[in-house]
Amino acid sequence: MKIVTDIKEWQIIRKNFSNQKIGFIPTMGNLHRGHLSLCNRSKLENEMSIVSIYVNQTQFNEVNDFNNYPRTLSQDIELLEKSAIDYLFLPDEKTMYPDNFQIQITETTESLELEGSYRSGHFTGMLTIVLKLFNLIQPQKAYFGEKDFQQLILIKKLVQALFLPIEIINCETIREKNGLAYSSRNNRLTNEQRKKAASFPKWLKEGENPVEITKNLEKLGFKVDYIKEKWQRRLGAVWLDNIRLIDNIPL
Ligand code: AMP
Repeated sequence: MKIVTDIKEWQIIRKNFSNQKIGFIPTMGNLHRGHLSLCNRSKLENEMSIVSIYVNQTQFNEVNDFNNYPRTLSQDIELLEKSAIDYLFLPDEKTMYPDNFQIQITETTESLELEGSYRSGHFTGMLTIVLKLFNLIQPQKAYFGEKDFQQLILIKKLVQALFLPIEIINCETIREKNGLAYSSRNNRLTNEQRKKAASFPKWLKEGENPVEITKNLEKLGFKVDYIKEKWQRRLGAVWLDNIRLIDNIPL
């Protein structure tokens, strides 16, 4: 796997590609089985697979969350080598924003509800970095997890609105044995919290309706930001002590 950190270097490499089919998997690192399932899917469907790792500060609405975000680069590189990824695009923090984030991509409707109403600016930061990465990588297909369902919806909308020649592929959520969706933030859970966290997807799946699910999760000690049904999914965000978990299931 070749690691490219410099944008100019990457653009020269990209220009010299022939017509190979390129699959792209954008991530923020601290890779787990969820990310690796996206990589495997891309490997199956493309001649070349490219992963980016970039912890995008503009999509964090809390400085502490950004500072505490797990960074495990050498472990990530090992996993990507094992997955036979061709290129890792690893830009440094500053190079992605030569404009100091003065140019922004904002969606004005669906980005304001659910996650958007609890994480102000999150989706603007996310859409802006995804468009920058799409412009640099120029893939034919890009892979996103259903775990972040609202993100997936907004990225599909971005591609459609801006006529980007990229096919967005959704990949199902990969879960631990106890049902908890893999997430980089799970690393911060203690063993006891991890056990309790499994009640979140369990109630999403088994509960009758959002009101009942909220009541039961609160009884267990979760603080519930929202449980809502939309896009034929049941989506939720909860806090377990100081760790925020999001998840969703098909209805
Ligand atoms: P992140 O590094 O958290 O930005 O995630 C990068 C990509 O991996 C996003 O498209 C996520 O939706 C996806 N992803 C994260 N966790 C999972 C999971 N448990 N199962 C499937 N995809 C996931």
